[in-house]
Amino acid sequence: MPKCYMCDIDITKVNETEEHIILNALGGRLKSKELICHECNIGFGTLFDDELARQMEVFTNLLNIKRDRGTPNSIVIENSKTGEKVIIRPGGKPEMFKPEINITSNNSKATISFAARNMKEARKILAGQKRKYPQIEIEEALNTSRKSSGYLKSSYEIRMKIGGTNSLRSVCKTAMHYYILTGGDRQYIEHLIPFVKQQKEVNCVGFYYTENEIIFNRPRGIYHTILLIGDSCDNSLIAYIELFSGIKYIVLLNENYKGVGVEKLYCFDVINQKQITYDYRRITKKDAEAALKIGDLPVFAVQKSINDLLEIIFKKQTSEHISELTNRAVLNSLGKYPEDTEITQDMVDELINECTKQITPFLIHRLNGSSK
Ligand SMILES: [Zn+2]
Repeated sequence: MPKCYMCDIDITKVNETEEHIILNALGGRLKSKELICHECNIGFGTLFDDELARQMEVFTNLLNIKRDRGTPNSIVIENSKTGEKVIIRPGGKPEMFKPEINITSNNSKATISFAARNMKEARKILAGQKRKYPQIEIEEALNTSRKSSGYLKSSYEIRMKIGGTNSLRSVCKTAMHYYILTGGDRQYIEHLIPFVKQQKEVNCVGFYYTENEIIFNRPRGIYHTILLIGDSCDNSLIAYIELFSGIKYIVLLNENYKGVGVEKLYCFDVINQKQITYDYRRITKKDAEAALKIGDLPVFAVQKSINDLLEIIFKKQTSEHISELTNRAVLNSLGKYPEDTEITQDMVDELINECTKQITPFLIHRLNGSSK
């Protein structure tokens, strides 16, 4: 019978709980019911897993990360010059921050114009105004409303905060889970249980941004990675963890490790949803200690890493958007003919016109964006 490695009680049908090794909110798929008991699990969620998930919200939103329950959170971005806010829905889809209502009136007449995010909201606004202006014909107003969409016209700032002991506890827990999952011996990590249970502070986890790359020969992409190395000659048991390729951590699980040799790599391709494998450099206690000694986050290295990551995300979004626009053009032009209609030159012209109509605003938006 499996035992909870945190509190050592038997895991039964009654107290079992499914634990994700990498948070499910981040798109982690690897999971087990044989790691910890329900009792130990309930403490973590709101304490620090949520904190780590919040710090990664930009990526989970832009990538529209699939999870077992719910969808990624929306985020709010701000125009650094005007302070104007925009909501970003999962998948990086911008939406107005709040509805806009303009009322101009003189003695005899009031003109109400407004922009709402959807019909339900428009109806609510009109109903509200009708209390003051009973002449408003809600249905008529809704019927004459116009649906519009467009691109953001200027650049917006996305703020991100990473780090802090609580999110690092969550990372440490991922390393411990993975060690136990791959057959590790509890005795080598039990001293860290008070740390992840918030009973004690231990300097065992930090960021890893140095010149010495650990991962090699990997296609450019977005990955969640755990590399676990246990070496009794080096007296160390270490985990190197990457979230979304760009956020890199190191966890010194044990600095007096005397157990069997361990060398395990787990790498999950977040975009293509599959596991891959590649070459890596063995990490040593020296690497881990050097990284843990650096108190402050090396901001430039982190920024570079995050920029690389965002570049990959935007590339992915662009190709998805273009195929969305092309599909829309086909639907708007050829879509209205029965499926077995023979295609005529007129229909081809119609398709070309529709493609131009759909894609031109995007190209203009891109050209404006790149010239700034
Ligand atoms: Zn337990």
